[in-house]
Amino acid sequence: MQNNPFQNAMTQLDKAAKIGNFNPEFIQLLREPNREIRISIPVKMDNGSIKAFEGYRVEYNNALGPYKGGIRYHHDTDINEVKALAFWMALKCAVAGIPMGGGKGGITVDPKELSKGELERLSRGWVSRLSDILGPHKDVPAPDVNTTPEIMSWMADEFEKITGDKTRATFTGKPLENGGSEGRGPATGLGGFCVFEALQKKLNLPDKCIVAIQGFGNVGSNAARIFTENGHKVIAVSDANGAILNENGLDIAALEIYKKENETLKGFTGSKEITNLELLALPCDVLVPAAFENQITESNAKDVKAKVILELANGPTTPEADEILYKMNVAIIPDILANSGGVTVSCFEWEQNLKGEHWSEEQVNQKLRPLLDDASTKIFDISRKVNTDLRLGAFILALERIQEKMYK
Ligand code: NAD
Repeated sequence: MQNNPFQNAMTQLDKAAKIGNFNPEFIQLLREPNREIRISIPVKMDNGSIKAFEGYRVEYNNALGPYKGGIRYHHDTDINEVKALAFWMALKCAVAGIPMGGGKGGITVDPKELSKGELERLSRGWVSRLSDILGPHKDVPAPDVNTTPEIMSWMADEFEKITGDKTRATFTGKPLENGGSEGRGPATGLGGFCVFEALQKKLNLPDKCIVAIQGFGNVGSNAARIFTENGHKVIAVSDANGAILNENGLDIAALEIYKKENETLKGFTGSKEITNLELLALPCDVLVPAAFENQITESNAKDVKAKVILELANGPTTPEADEILYKMNVAIIPDILANSGGVTVSCFEWEQNLKGEHWSEEQVNQKLRPLLDDASTKIFDISRKVNTDLRLGAFILALERIQEKMYK
């Protein structure tokens, strides 16, 4: 059965509500987004025809600040996925301690099937349909799967054309030359690594870890590079076409070049091909899902041999798998903590745009690490105090912060 990510998110909420000290009315409110919008975006195709695409924006909760969250382009994207992602964004911003609420957007489309011109018209169309609800103090989108800095640039430009807003603060993840922040590209991978380091000793991991990473896009490839640069051994990575393994460690810098040139990981020197399922079951210290939801489920959780799972993707582990892994003593560093570096640097970009400043990468990273260290320690302590896993510890921290703001 295909897991519905929103149902999974609500199961997680129910579990946290049982453990924490929350007003039942507050939990009930969190079961629905403040607003969900479906749009139809007509796009003039290169052959002169007009094709309509389905798009979404979900504004989940803005107690802590403007709605914030990426826009996903994928042929499987639907309203349930976007609602789940928007809910997790609300909690993620609360965990990271940034003044942002949770939102998410998407378009059901396989961007590889569009020409560059069609992709630009589609992206501008999404903004034009939604410009009334977007804005630096209302709703601030960002990139997600298959949305690039260039797409954010088109969107920021379209928003400025429609509204006259010149701050550039309505979209984050933009290219540097168009108001982007230093360090935004690697921020999610780097943030994940900071969280890993903050918890490494507490979770009894060795000094030098063996790592397997599912997904080699923005998040997975940056994580692979950063783990390797810090002396850990990345033995396997994968993309939508399959996985590769080298038990002696992959040369990630060479692999990045190879992937760019060949558009595949397969055939990389010294590696052998395995399946994505085999990657998830490799013996290693840290398994990093960095692709999509619902990868570790009731059916394959028992095969996991990693000591720790660092969730850089959103929602990669289902609630049923969570329970199996908890009994197996596999610690899961949850998505709303592990991948919160991305939205945190997005928040820094928004702040720089509003103040007309430009911070160096060093400044950005110096601001990022303490926030993630603090969140990691608090979540670890909560999970130990109430004798639960790190996911529920993270939910409790986030829900307490949102509840406090809504009921003060
Ligand atoms: P991306 O589009 O850059 O990369 C996705 C990667 O997953 C690609 O390498 C793709 O080939 C691979 N993939 C697709 N299907 C796969 C499969 N079945 N098995 C293995 N690999 C597969 O996207 P991204 O920005 O790297 O995002 C990855 C995940 O991280 C998503 O869950 C996203 O929501 C989450 N995330 C991203 C950011 C960000 O800053 N980009 C921030 C927080 C969370």
